[in-house]
Amino acid sequence: MMAIDVHVHTRGGEDGNKVLKALDYAGLERIVLLAVPPKDAHKQSVDEVVKLVAPDPDRLIGFAWIEPTLPDAVEAVDYALGEKGLRGVKMIPNHWYPADERAQACYKKIEEHKKPMLFHTGILWGTSDTSQYCRPAFFEIMLHYPGIRFAMAHISWPWTDECLAVNGKFRYNQEGEWTSYVDITTGAPRIWKVDALQKALAYLGDEHIVYGSDCSRPEDGEDLKRHLVEDQSILRDAGASPEARERIFSKNALSWLGIA
Ligand SMILES: [Zn+2]
Repeated sequence: MMAIDVHVHTRGGEDGNKVLKALDYAGLERIVLLAVPPKDAHKQSVDEVVKLVAPDPDRLIGFAWIEPTLPDAVEAVDYALGEKGLRGVKMIPNHWYPADERAQACYKKIEEHKKPMLFHTGILWGTSDTSQYCRPAFFEIMLHYPGIRFAMAHISWPWTDECLAVNGKFRYNQEGEWTSYVDITTGAPRIWKVDALQKALAYLGDEHIVYGSDCSRPEDGEDLKRHLVEDQSILRDAGASPEARERIFSKNALSWLGIA
């Protein structure tokens, strides 16, 4: 099975051709590469990921990292998704809530470009007292942006039940397309992850769950492969059928990305 990894970080300076070799080694068909977090402005971060994906923009799917509190955020969405042709946007609510007006100004633009989003959700390490901003229920704001397909990373661990409930709400309450996706990227230790995926499959079915690794060394095929093999084993333990795994590791990502 050729898989798609929807959640891989970059550090800047990687070589797209080396990433392609790593994909072949790991058995990955495509990979979503997230730009480095912008510092004071977005251009450098956007330009770096554009350069990284240039060798094969079909297999290497570049996402801009937009920080809505920076003054150039809205204009950076146009630059990244319009002028530079990046395929989606990553955000981490870091001392701002998902309904922050500055973030909503960006969602409006992203919706115009008809591109998907990936949000960090769940406990947030490394940046002080930030987890409270990433609780799943706050992402109900996305009900107001029905043109954006968005994924909630890490199954929002430790708030996995809340994540599944929010996804259920998007599934049943909204007219039109079901826009939310659960990104099963690592975060939850295995015992929680198996449990959460069992519940996710029972409650949401297998069409809105996507696989990601959260790797931060995209040139390292061994690292990409290790995560892939581990999550295939976790999904088997959670009772996912071969067809369900095919969707979770590949087909669903195409729908979320708007490729299917
Ligand atoms: Zn991540």
